[in-house]
Amino acid sequence: MQVTFLGTNGWYDSATGNTVSALISARDYDIILDAGNGIAKADRYITQEKPVFLFLSHFHLDHTEGLHVLVKFRFKKGLTICGKAGMKADLVGLVREPYTVPLDKVPFAVTIQELENKASDLPFMVTSLPLVHPVPCVGYRFEIDEKVITYCTDTGICDNAVTLARDADLLITECGLKPGEKSPDWPHLNPEDAIHIARAAGAKRLALMHFGAEVYHTLEERRILVKQFEKTWPGLVAAEDGMTITV
Ligand SMILES: [Zn+2]
Ligand SMILES: [Zn+2]
Repeated sequence: MQVTFLGTNGWYDSATGNTVSALISARDYDIILDAGNGIAKADRYITQEKPVFLFLSHFHLDHTEGLHVLVKFRFKKGLTICGKAGMKADLVGLVREPYTVPLDKVPFAVTIQELENKASDLPFMVTSLPLVHPVPCVGYRFEIDEKVITYCTDTGICDNAVTLARDADLLITECGLKPGEKSPDWPHLNPEDAIHIARAAGAKRLALMHFGAEVYHTLEERRILVKQFEKTWPGLVAAEDGMTITV
């Protein structure tokens, strides 16, 4: 199974990349994580022949602004958009005229699915739990193709992130802050926080994305983290747009 990072910036696009989106290419499904501007690149990596699932963490625009390009895709087996309970009204309210083409007018079938903590009617196992953020935001744990991939973005350190990442093959989380930085009023993770969660959970690998655009001005500033923390967390991935890793 492969994970491709489509957009790795938090907050806004810059020279370092697009806003948040990632792709899990599983055996029978393509699973997209969040719909920042990076989602526009999804069709470079998928055939559009498999069922596509899109999981939204929350509705901050750096995770949803790419929804306006959905109309360019041709998902032959349809798209299922998943999010927390109660999200359908927010989704339909955002993806509508006069702002963009509404979901019932894109050229493929769209299903909206609000998830409880354990999703039972998806073709693979998904667990979602709330994270710590100024607006409701959920993290996801996917159990698919005999692997566990956890996606927790836009959060401070919390027990739910650890629970979702328990023994995961890969934890994808955020890195809004530089090493040593804190933002208690608007929780985000610095690299040490992310490593703390991964270690507490017993996750096997850790990939950082959602690098704050106003904090990390160059890709080199991300790459330095890998060297800086290689002893603390061997194999740390500092994601960049277009990077693919095998899980
Ligand atoms: Zn964000
Ligand atoms: Zn956010």
